[in-house]
Amino acid sequence: MKVIDKINNGLANNGVVFSFEFFPPRTEEGIDNLFDRMDRMVVHQPAFCDITWGAGGSTSALTLDIANKMQNMICVETMMHLTCTNMPVEKLEDALNTVKANGIQNILALRGDPPHGQDTFVTIEGGFSCALDLVKHIKAKYGDYFGITVAGYPEAHPEVITSEAGATEEAYRKDLAYLKEKVDAGAEVIVTQLFYDTDIFLKFVSNCREIGIKCPIVPGIMPIQNYKGFLRMTSLCKTKVPEEIKAALEPIKDNEEAVRAYGIHLGTEMCKKILAHDIRTLHLYSLNLEKSVLGILQNLGLIDFSKISRPLPWRPPTNIRRN
Ligand code: FAD
Repeated sequence: MKVIDKINNGLANNGVVFSFEFFPPRTEEGIDNLFDRMDRMVVHQPAFCDITWGAGGSTSALTLDIANKMQNMICVETMMHLTCTNMPVEKLEDALNTVKANGIQNILALRGDPPHGQDTFVTIEGGFSCALDLVKHIKAKYGDYFGITVAGYPEAHPEVITSEAGATEEAYRKDLAYLKEKVDAGAEVIVTQLFYDTDIFLKFVSNCREIGIKCPIVPGIMPIQNYKGFLRMTSLCKTKVPEEIKAALEPIKDNEEAVRAYGIHLGTEMCKKILAHDIRTLHLYSLNLEKSVLGILQNLGLIDFSKISRPLPWRPPTNIRRN
């Protein structure tokens, strides 16, 4: 089923729709652990789960394999990320044909970041230069088979953020107009980049609505699980961090447990504020860990560990090995 239908069904039942994102682990042990974790997490009935496509296509075979197992073994509606970086059209089509053959109907269509060592994105020969090209191609080649999701940037894409104050109004508006083009070309859902200032996200949603973007805009929530990781991600994505968050983290930054507990508290408060604005979809960047995202959902009353009577399903060994 397409992600848009999963979302609409969840919303029609007056529910809150949530989803979990994972990335391909680096080790074989990590891969086995990931499937165990997914088993435990899907018991809580996320609308869908997604798996990232390693930067520059570095995990393509592994991502394809994991997506297949998620859809057909873990039995969760799966969305696979796909980027244009280092991918001539034939390779993109190989990937799309593989996921289609595996019964996966959902793609997060992305341009991708420049490969390691390059500052700017360069279109390879026979490749696409932006996510819009990929969306158009998927629609032209596969019709309505795939449900397409695209990325949205509440603070504008990092490439156009040129100062501490953020993107200029002009750059922000250009980014929004381009996002609308992706939706007009066939994307049905937007998942956002992480943010820590909820007001910025809410403003982004209303600005999207003003220019006629009508599809679900799903906030990407990344709980702070570790101080160094938080600094790395916010610097990479040029994310604004409100002063009160910096102040709360400063005295506890060396205490991992305290940082994680604060991350759950902050994530819960952010989600509460979003839900209070009648946005009832939440996308949780799990970073392949379960405690923080499940902690937030539990605080929100969206999952209840005591009601889980279903035993974890038995499944055969995954047999996914890194090459
Ligand atoms: P695009 O939508 O193509 O946009 C990139 C920038 O270029 C924007 O500023 C846009 O305004 C501008 N632009 C591009 N084309 C045009 C045009 N024709 N006209 C005007 N402006 C244009 N990266 C990975 O490698 N693997 C992943 O799995 C992955 N998952 C992600 C998931 C989410 C939810 C998000 C938010 C990001 C993810 N990324 C991932 C990172 C993403 O690949 C990078 O942010 C990348 O630099 C941009 O990808 P995009 O699809 O947003 O690009």
